[in-house]
Amino acid sequence: MIFYSVNDYFKHRYGRKIVKLSLDGGFTCPNRDGKLDTRGCLFCSDRGSGEYAGIVTDGFYMAETQPILEQMAYQKSLLSDKWRDCGYLGYFQNFSNTYAPLEKLIETYAPVYEDSSVVGLALATRPDCITDEMYPLFKSYMARGEFWLELGLQSIHPQSVSLIRRHYDMALFESVYSRLKAEEIPVVLHIILGLPEETREMMLETVKYVSSLKPFGVKFHMLNVLRGSDLEAYYAKENFKLIEVHEYIDLICDALELLPADITIHRLTGDGPRELLIAPMWIRNKRAVLNGIQREMRRRGTVQGAKSEV
Ligand code: SF4
Repeated sequence: MIFYSVNDYFKHRYGRKIVKLSLDGGFTCPNRDGKLDTRGCLFCSDRGSGEYAGIVTDGFYMAETQPILEQMAYQKSLLSDKWRDCGYLGYFQNFSNTYAPLEKLIETYAPVYEDSSVVGLALATRPDCITDEMYPLFKSYMARGEFWLELGLQSIHPQSVSLIRRHYDMALFESVYSRLKAEEIPVVLHIILGLPEETREMMLETVKYVSSLKPFGVKFHMLNVLRGSDLEAYYAKENFKLIEVHEYIDLICDALELLPADITIHRLTGDGPRELLIAPMWIRNKRAVLNGIQREMRRRGTVQGAKSEV
C-alpha cells in the first residue's frame, strides 16, 4: 500500500465501501456572519468551502431549505448507479458545522441516525466554534459509530494565516486540538498547498507540524481560484504563481513520506466545482494527478511514512 487512504480504512473497519453523503445543515461561519469578518476566508466561495451538498433543482441550490432526510435520499439517488451495496457517512463540510447552540446541533444531526445504512457522521468546523458542552455530544456520536471532526488549519505560517483571514491563531488551535486529542475524538486536518508566498519548505513545515500532532486524518487541497471568492480579485491583481502539476505531485509525494503511516489520507487532490474554477485548470483532471502521484511514489520506491520523524 503506497498510502493509507480513508477508503482503505473503511474497508478494513466495515468490510465494504462507505460513501460520503455531502449534506448541508444550513450553518454559517464566524468569518461570514460578521462575528469575525463578513468576507469569508480569502479562498472560500459563497458555498462555504465545501463540495456540492444538498439538492440542486433547475440549477438552483436549495440545500438550506431541505430537510436532512430529503438531502440524504437525493444524494443516495445520485450515487446509486455507481455504488451498490455500500454504507454511507453523513458528511457536513460546508461552512462551520458546530457554529450553533447545542440544541440545534442535536436536532440537525439526529435524522442521519434514522437511516440504518449510515455508519456515522463527519463534521467540518473551526476550532473556535467548539464549546465545552459539545464534547459529550461528540462522544455520544463516537459511541454510535464512525465520527470525526475536520478542522481547516491550512497553514501554520502567520503571514499565510493573516492573508487568508483565517481569524484564529495557533495558540487557540493548539488548545482545542489538545482537548480533542485528550478526549480521543478523531480529527482530520486540512492543509492547503500553493498559498501565495509560501515556499515549498514552508508547505512541508506545515506537513511536519501536522505529522507531529498525529491526527486521525489529513486532507490536502491545492489552492483553487474560484469565481466569487476574494481570491479571484487577489489573483487578478497580484498574478502570483500557482503551483504546476509536476510540482504539486512532487510536493504531495514529499508530504506522504513525512506523514506517519497510520494517518488516513482523505484527499490528495480535488477537482473543484467546474463551473467556478478559474485556475489552475490542471486540477480538473483529478485522475491524471492521482496517477502521477502513484507513479512518482513507485519511481521513488517509497511509501507513506518512509521519512516520518515522529
Ligand atoms: S473556509 Fe470555512 S471558515 Fe473560512 S469562510 Fe469558508 S466556511 Fe468560513
